[in-house]
Amino acid sequence: MAQKPYTITLIPGDGVGPEVAKAACRVLEATGVPLRWEVQNAGAETMEREGALLPQAVLDSIRRHKVALKGPITTPVGTGFRSVNVALRQSLDLYACLRPCKSYRGILSRYEDIDIVVVRENTEDLYAGIEFERGSAGAAKLIETIAQDGYPRLGLDTGISIKAISEAGSRRIVQFAFDYARSHGRKKVSAIHKANIMKFSDGLFLEVARDVAKGYQNIQFEDVIIDNLCMQLVIRPVQCDIRVLPNLSGDIITDLCAGLVGGLGVAPGANLGEQAAVFEATHGSAPRYAGLNKVNPSAMILSGIMMLRHLGEREAADRAEAALAQVLAEGREVTYDLKPTRDDPSAVGTSQMADAIIRRLRR
Ligand code: NAD
Repeated sequence: MAQKPYTITLIPGDGVGPEVAKAACRVLEATGVPLRWEVQNAGAETMEREGALLPQAVLDSIRRHKVALKGPITTPVGTGFRSVNVALRQSLDLYACLRPCKSYRGILSRYEDIDIVVVRENTEDLYAGIEFERGSAGAAKLIETIAQDGYPRLGLDTGISIKAISEAGSRRIVQFAFDYARSHGRKKVSAIHKANIMKFSDGLFLEVARDVAKGYQNIQFEDVIIDNLCMQLVIRPVQCDIRVLPNLSGDIITDLCAGLVGGLGVAPGANLGEQAAVFEATHGSAPRYAGLNKVNPSAMILSGIMMLRHLGEREAADRAEAALAQVLAEGREVTYDLKPTRDDPSAVGTSQMADAIIRRLRR
């Protein structure tokens, strides 16, 4: 009897999202795993059409099918436009952001043999969106309360963003990192923080991490201050294993680690919670390249491969990863960012790179 298809919520996103999403879907389908896509839209264009940035139907679809593949969605800087990506993670309580950064042969990069896994807390910290605008009544009230608590009085021209980190939020993300280490044969988890300065937020995160570590005797634990980590990553990145971080520093460090393995074009990710899993590349919507069939689909394809593993389709995932690795190693049918120079005329487009991967999958 034919295998029942998996129904996956597909959010193509905007900018380069639809192009890389299409490439990823084609590669995943070529593995032979039966997949049925339920397409849902979110973002600025959806707002214009349907009056909501993140329509309820999108959340309902993901809750129903429990798995989504998502393209990037634009968040304009410094406007009132709330990030759909952050809203999605918060609404579905996708508290763990898993971002593996692995070297593939053929990718021009300063380093080889990197295999770092970044586990980023996804719901708290400065990303929670608790902010008070300069000159607002809320900001004035907070400034007053802070002064009454004995701190220097902030000027009324101050804007305030709250960094809130909880014991429960820290416990579940550190436990996630250790459980991931245990199930993937990893030896060490490092908690990254700035607890020496932010004693009650990162300090709490560290205190909880130390406590959680006691329950995992076979996995080493260490803590590293984030500025020191940045230096270590640049000097000796190969030494790293699993890094668990609060939300904002996790965001920054994942881009740094993506840079170590060849750039955002090859950095996949997953947002995981108890109820649902949303797979998406680390990169954004790269609006400059939208519609040009130019950007690298690898990050999105690798995110889809993570999705196959999540579905239990390990063999198909391994085949797809091997086909992609082969195309990368050969270095011929790859996008501009993987060529020695950015204007290399032999670079192929997004869909042609997907074709090359599919051809190797079918051999
Ligand atoms: P970006 O990742 O979109 O692009 C930065 C640069 O990285 C690009 O100009 C390009 O040179 C390179 N790049 C990105 N993806 C690439 C790919 N697949 N292949 C080759 N090169 C690639 O980052 P940004 O410019 O800071 O953000 C643009 C928009 O995307 C913003 O609105 C931001 O909020 C949004 N964003 C969304 C997500 C998401 O949906 N999860 C994540 C990050 C940023």
